Amino acid sequence: MREILPAMIAVLALCGEAWAQGAGEAAASGQPPYEVVAPPACVNDKGEPVRFEDRDGGRADLAAGMAARDGDGEPVVYRSNYSATPPDFQRFIDFHECAHHQTGDVDRPHPPRNGPEHLMNESISDCVAILRLRDEEGYGRAGFERVAAAMRADMERIGFPEISVSSRIANIETCFARDGSAEDFIEVVRERRGEGK
Ligand SMILES: [Zn+2]
Repeated sequence: MREILPAMIAVLALCGEAWAQGAGEAAASGQPPYEVVAPPACVNDKGEPVRFEDRDGGRADLAAGMAARDGDGEPVVYRSNYSATPPDFQRFIDFHECAHHQTGDVDRPHPPRNGPEHLMNESISDCVAILRLRDEEGYGRAGFERVAAAMRADMERIGFPEISVSSRIANIETCFARDGSAEDFIEVVRERRGEGK
């Protein structure tokens, strides 16, 4: 992670879960409202299955996800307004939020918002998400471009500066070209955190 950290810190002044939001722009195909995709399989780092739940809230024109534990302590991803963003980016958000469960972010104290550790967690979740799209959903270059276009439309709509947009897309592009699976990548992350097997 060390290699991508400086650039991320330098440019991502605003981020947070807004990163995983999607815009209603017709960036990739069609117009909103879009059909909402079925959620993927997701298991956290303790082997618990993660539930996905659609719920209202937030800006109606912005799709968003949130990884959490519910009132009973069960791991969950809350999905808001997914019909506002194209299916490709809905899948990306699902995998991104799942990654916060897979890496154990959900069960660790939340690092200071927009600090380096927080931004690194977001970059890692983005990386896992694009690798799972590549390896489990068969996304090739054209699919990657659709995700990147939706991500750009989303971030521009929220008001991120260009440097933040291009930096985030550069991160997923590097990950997309990476050897090894999402699981391999998560294992590397855990080893670097001293949590390896
Ligand atoms: Zn996130």
